[in-house]
Amino acid sequence: MSKPKQLQIDCHVHMVGDGSSGSGCELQVEGKVKKLMSRFYCKKIGLPKDALDGGNLDTLYVEHLTKLVKESSLDAVVILAQDHPYNQETGERLEDQGLFYVPNDYVIELAKAYPFFLPAISLHPARKNAIAELERLVAAGAVMNKLLPNCHNVDCSNADYQPFWRRMAEMKIPLLAHTGGEHTLPVINKNYQDPRYLTGALDAGVTVIAAHAGTKSGLLDRDYSKVIKEMLQHYPNLYVDNSAFNLPFRSRYVVRCLDKKVVGRVLHGSDYPVPISSLWSLLRGFLAFETFIEAKKCKNPLQKDIILKRAMGFPEDTFYRVAKLLPEGSLQNLQRLRF
Ligand SMILES: [Zn+2]
Repeated sequence: MSKPKQLQIDCHVHMVGDGSSGSGCELQVEGKVKKLMSRFYCKKIGLPKDALDGGNLDTLYVEHLTKLVKESSLDAVVILAQDHPYNQETGERLEDQGLFYVPNDYVIELAKAYPFFLPAISLHPARKNAIAELERLVAAGAVMNKLLPNCHNVDCSNADYQPFWRRMAEMKIPLLAHTGGEHTLPVINKNYQDPRYLTGALDAGVTVIAAHAGTKSGLLDRDYSKVIKEMLQHYPNLYVDNSAFNLPFRSRYVVRCLDKKVVGRVLHGSDYPVPISSLWSLLRGFLAFETFIEAKKCKNPLQKDIILKRAMGFPEDTFYRVAKLLPEGSLQNLQRLRF
């Protein structure tokens, strides 16, 4: 039997939509997301300028992302759903707290249509039917669960969530959890940005990927990269991703992620459609001028992120590691497609 091909996967790509195709996606157009999207996304990433007003964002976004993946060196991207925040005592949804919503069934359906999309659901453990819903979605193909504990209002160390985490661990579903400050979405509980809250899921045996490696995204944010480094020594099931490292503040922490105690647990993630720039890498001395020009010429943000991460010194393993952490069998279709 031939050895399966190694799969190059971006583990952190957001889905965005306006519900125009019946997807159920919601996007509050007056919030910060709108500003981010209109200012950067539509202009920089090649969508029509009126993509947000044209009533066709669902289709435009999927078509565009499909093209970017096909024209990149990636074999697949993990596409992220986005749950609503919930009240942790009552299990009721917190209305008007989320700026955007992407239903779990939408990413599952997209993955059925496009095998290079790997669906990450977003499922709050306080939801009344959380475990049953988790089982249903995993049976339908979910490969990961993505949460922003500070924005979704999830205390991952809450003992009530242990059965949920244990079920995730049994089904080999990793948790991709935002760590550090957040400036695009409303923050409900700032404390939960601290990666130490993730020990509840880690102790239950869940493979946890600390998105952004605990680095700071704003000037006044706290940096948790040293905390993460300590935690990595204690938890063999803890990983980090290098998503959004081509932004001004996070790029500063690249050296910490290349530390020999950390680099073996780093996964490649872009955080698309968060816009990236090669300037920060150049200013921090990571790029030879020729690489800067190569990256600047590259109009595909997914590929540009790969060029820049390589130039920063992230080893090849980081681009292939996530494939080993996903549930068994979840990459079979993709393997078949690549041969
Ligand atoms: Zn993200």
